[in-house]
Amino acid sequence: MHHKSIDISQTLVQIFNEISKPIGLHEPSMGQREQELVEECLKSNWVSYLGKFVNQFEENLIDYTGISYASLMVSGTAALHMALIVLDIKPEEEVLVPALTFVATANSVKYCSAVPHFVDSNESTLGLDPEKLDKYLSEITELKNGFCYNKYTKRKIHSLIVMHTFGHASDIDALLEVCRKYSIFLIEDTAESLGSFYKGKHTGNFGDISIFSFNGNKIITTGGGGVLMSNKKEYAEKAKFLSTTAKKPHAWEFDHSEVGYNYRMPNINAAIGCAQMEKLSTFLESKRNLADFYKKLFQDNKDYWFFQEPRHSKSNYWLNAIILNDELEPYRDEILNSVISEKIGIRPAWKLISDLEIYKDTPRMDLSQSIRLQRKIINLPSSVGLYEKITRGTI
Ligand SMILES: *Cc1c(COP(=O)(O)O)cnc(C)c1O
Repeated sequence: MHHKSIDISQTLVQIFNEISKPIGLHEPSMGQREQELVEECLKSNWVSYLGKFVNQFEENLIDYTGISYASLMVSGTAALHMALIVLDIKPEEEVLVPALTFVATANSVKYCSAVPHFVDSNESTLGLDPEKLDKYLSEITELKNGFCYNKYTKRKIHSLIVMHTFGHASDIDALLEVCRKYSIFLIEDTAESLGSFYKGKHTGNFGDISIFSFNGNKIITTGGGGVLMSNKKEYAEKAKFLSTTAKKPHAWEFDHSEVGYNYRMPNINAAIGCAQMEKLSTFLESKRNLADFYKKLFQDNKDYWFFQEPRHSKSNYWLNAIILNDELEPYRDEILNSVISEKIGIRPAWKLISDLEIYKDTPRMDLSQSIRLQRKIINLPSSVGLYEKITRGTI
């Protein structure tokens, strides 16, 4: 092992010396309140996709984010799929997707028989690079009848999916500008950014549609779940309709006007969501304290740097990350192996989606910044309540 990778590993292990192992990367935080509301839900017998918790959870999300409409789904992935359907995507159209994201972002495009087209991210936000994207689109696209076409593949470019990586807002104003210029939809994959703001507005307010995830590893969880949100009523309503098998409202008749989906979140999960929403501000405080703690601990280090919220934004610090410098990059896996063997949940960023075998034949721009970033990122344990454990405080 390189002596510096030994140093880093030791530093990371020492932080958690006093805490019982294993320590997960991001663990759920469940309590009495979740039990109470689930019990209330079970007693009411409204356990499926209708009921008061589904409605209340949607209201809570609307109040908190300031996004006007919400439609709960069984997962963030289902919400992404639904977003593309609501925006009327057609087979063979292209969707611009970051290479540095979770696989679901690209999978949702494939579900529609459309084509993910991978674009590059930058080091200042870990999200898409608007200047590079603009330059690229100016080279490869042409506008015809108000729509954007890839000159080389002849396919229509339908939309751009922006992802707010680890809860840090992407450069959304500039990206929105690019989408307007090329006349394409903007979808925000806000799966990781509940509680993150850009220029004072909650993430997810900027795109045509945004989606959040409540999977077990996200900042709040319903076990599994997601939501499609939009400031446009028609999008959220269409999503609700299509996610409940496109059944026409009627007292007793089964009439379905389209091939719909069974994607609606059950009331039981929504009950957990309502309890988690009550705690969101406490969760965010705990996560910010942890981020401050890491930041101070690592600030004099020259071998890596702690990723902090980009300018103009306030991050939820869903996953904390250090970024290795060039010298240490080759030793990332040594560090991972050494620290993980101590049952401490650090992780690399996702393998680039563009490198997955299943996506090897998809179009892409130069991805040099994503490639570099992917090799250097290490995510640190980031659970709610971890800071309090380290400092023996209480939450
Ligand atoms: C978690 C996540 C999703 C998928 O959400 P699920 O609820 O797990 O389906 C999509 N995109 C990103 C970036 C995510 O982190």
